[in-house]
Amino acid sequence: MAITRFAPSPTGYLHIGGLRTSLYNYLWARKTNGEFRLRIEDTDTARNNEEAMKAIISAFDWVGLNYDGEVFYQSKRTDIYKVYIDKLLENGNAYKCYMSRDELDSLRASQEAAKQNPRYDGTWRPEAGKVLPQIPAGIEPVIRIKAPLSGTIEFEDGVKGSMKFDANQVDDFVIARSNGMPTYNFVVAIDDALMNMTDVIRGDDHLSNTPKQIVVYNALGFKVPKFYHVPMINNPSGKKLSKRDGAMDVMDYKNLGYLPEALLNFLVRLGWSNGDQEIFSMEEMLELFDPSNINKSSSSYNGEKLLWLNSEYIKAVSNERLIEELKFFDLDLSHHPKRTELLDLSKQRAQTIVELKKSITDILDVPTSYEEAGVKKFVKEDTKDFLEKYLELLEKNKEDLYNVENVEEITKPFIAENGLKFPQLFQPIRIALTGGTQAPSVYDIIAILGFNEVSSRLKEALKRNFQNT
Ligand code: GLU
Repeated sequence: MAITRFAPSPTGYLHIGGLRTSLYNYLWARKTNGEFRLRIEDTDTARNNEEAMKAIISAFDWVGLNYDGEVFYQSKRTDIYKVYIDKLLENGNAYKCYMSRDELDSLRASQEAAKQNPRYDGTWRPEAGKVLPQIPAGIEPVIRIKAPLSGTIEFEDGVKGSMKFDANQVDDFVIARSNGMPTYNFVVAIDDALMNMTDVIRGDDHLSNTPKQIVVYNALGFKVPKFYHVPMINNPSGKKLSKRDGAMDVMDYKNLGYLPEALLNFLVRLGWSNGDQEIFSMEEMLELFDPSNINKSSSSYNGEKLLWLNSEYIKAVSNERLIEELKFFDLDLSHHPKRTELLDLSKQRAQTIVELKKSITDILDVPTSYEEAGVKKFVKEDTKDFLEKYLELLEKNKEDLYNVENVEEITKPFIAENGLKFPQLFQPIRIALTGGTQAPSVYDIIAILGFNEVSSRLKEALKRNFQNT
């Protein structure tokens, strides 16, 4: 039973890297009948913002990754952290350090000059038999934790394998600032321990924090969780993902017309695989996902693939669902008598809900202009004649036009008898009915619009001679 968490810092919106991290944590918790927690890491008050916090929670709602219990806010837990700082002071694993800013700066400068890693030199670290300096007046101390002076800090990473950090890479770092505020690595470790996290799955940009957090676990006798550090998502040229490549707010994906299940499917594959399978329902993800199969190398964002997945999901979900999604884009088809036909037709070619809407409104809305290139290419001298004839034919059969097969049955012989090629008839009709040449099958459009509407649009196009003035 895994207890996992997603622990965003609300300094900006939730981006797809963060969503992937939370998906992995979510899947692992749900798969093992464990718990998935949401913890907002908002101790850095200067950088936090309320909007970002709300945006993260609404993005979670949109994708449907439900978390267990309440949302934890680190900013509301300072009393708890204080208890553990006091504990560490009491058990001798932490101490007060009165080094001034100037002293720290000059220490750092001399270490840099000697080409050493800048690190705290242990001036205030108490040791048996050591005499500490005189406590200076007017300086509020910081609290430092005692890190090991020699040996290694080791852990078995579920993705990267055996990790070893030399003790000299971790100094006695500050766990509470002089104003009493605990620091980042300290609170993360305390929370993960108190919330009984068994597995911590996070971006490998946090790898260098892990030895520090392990120092905190050890100093308090807490059990160290299993860590999985997931490689970053890069752009197709192997560089850090930028906003242009897709590193946008998760909610922008909603605004662009992606379905959350397509986005989650896309993300699960960015860093994890099961053979060459591409489409995973949530049930399959839950059945197959295991964080120990997370890829060791970074993954590459592929926008084409996301579009392809989205189009597959648009085809696969129910029409009721599409009706709900379209409402977000201000199209309400819930009472439209031809909603099934419209959706069945338009979803075949839509890569996003925005495209789906366009395809539908192209049919429903009376065209306000005619595509010039199409008119030039397909509207010829004889077009008017056979369109008029065709209209007569439609009128004769107007009671039967509600059905695609019927329309096809009367149209095919018409084309043959008049020695026409399909585009000669269909492209001008598409232009007359929808304004453009990209619309779906003419038979379907006629069946959806019905005789009166088809007749009125065709007559209008003929009257205007397909011109836009
Ligand atoms: N708050 C960190 C972040 O937003 C994540 C911390 C963690 O997962 O341990 O990057």
